[in-house]
Amino acid sequence: MFIGNNNFPVKINKDASFGFGDRIGIATPIHAGFAKKYDIFPVFAQQSAREISSIGRTCQDVLKNARQGVQKSSYKGSWGADADHIRNKEWLLKFLDNDFMPYSMFTIDTFDCMDIAGPAPNDSSFKKRLKRAEKYTGKAYTFSKYRITYTHDSIYKIVLKYYRAIDFLIECYRTIKQKIAEFDFEPAFDEKGIDTSPEEHFYLASELTDEGINFTTFAPKFPGLFEKAIDYIGDVDNFICNLKIHKEIADCFLSYRLSLHSADDKLKVIGLFAQILEGRFHIKTSGSEWMEALRTLSQCNRELFDMILNLAVTNAEKNIKAYYLSLDINKIKSLIKTSSSESLIDISETRQLLHTSYGTVLGKYLDEIKSSLSSNEEMFTNNVISNYQRYFDAIY
Ligand SMILES: [Zn+2]
Repeated sequence: MFIGNNNFPVKINKDASFGFGDRIGIATPIHAGFAKKYDIFPVFAQQSAREISSIGRTCQDVLKNARQGVQKSSYKGSWGADADHIRNKEWLLKFLDNDFMPYSMFTIDTFDCMDIAGPAPNDSSFKKRLKRAEKYTGKAYTFSKYRITYTHDSIYKIVLKYYRAIDFLIECYRTIKQKIAEFDFEPAFDEKGIDTSPEEHFYLASELTDEGINFTTFAPKFPGLFEKAIDYIGDVDNFICNLKIHKEIADCFLSYRLSLHSADDKLKVIGLFAQILEGRFHIKTSGSEWMEALRTLSQCNRELFDMILNLAVTNAEKNIKAYYLSLDINKIKSLIKTSSSESLIDISETRQLLHTSYGTVLGKYLDEIKSSLSSNEEMFTNNVISNYQRYFDAIY
């Protein structure tokens, strides 16, 4: 196991790994406390292309802040850096070409490459994938008592839906491989809002493996809603059944672990996820530190908090849309009038609004926020710790 020099992010070397998104770039020393306390591999730098561009940070900033945070802490173990949710080649190259140091993990988001059923494109790549997929027709497999079968029609639909995603994943993987020898690679399907069926998961894992893509984690879209900043919405029993099937599929390939995204506040399922996967998992949180920063401001700097709230309301429509949420702005306005500042952090509508406003708010008030949090460092630290402790209590 890697112990010692931890100046650079490295490939995940434990069965359990945990992504700590840090939007302001000051929370790594607090996150490091959890990496010391629990047997997890921490991914301290984890920021999506969307987050980086909306905050106005750079890929370098994210790495620098994480490394400074590790150095400031007493954590001596290894850690990772996730170039998260890359949706196009342009962003892949931005992450790869940063001149500070290499990322150790790349999450490729297939959002823009997934097709839904329609007429067959007269496209050589589609034809090639369809030909390769003939081997599945008539095959049957059983995972956690669920029987997967492929017919000519069902495999045609799966290929049509995913052939461009597979091509994009292969292209990204090969591009990274030319520059970096050792890295974690995560195909992600979670953002589109369409559940990844067991049949699709098995097909995707099988095709990527056959193409020599060495992915270490895999993020299907699990059933239910994983909306930002609120708990899981959906049938927990169905989530469990589905997760068991996905687990057995992943186990049969032996080489990768399942990844849960948007795990912030998902207390109904985060512990189950870790337990059903028997400690072999990746979990990503991304907005927890931001919400605790706001909680701290609501407690110690009402004036700044009120300015943030105003800005969030003014830009609500645009920010909410970027996260595919639907929030009632009039209800939010009346909640703001009738509730205390601090309680707005925990009311789901205002919580989601504030969560999705980070880009606009940090774009305008980053310096003020940093300075206020550093004057109230103990309060901020305690808020982040008590929030994250809920996740780790559920997991362990
Ligand atoms: Zn995601």
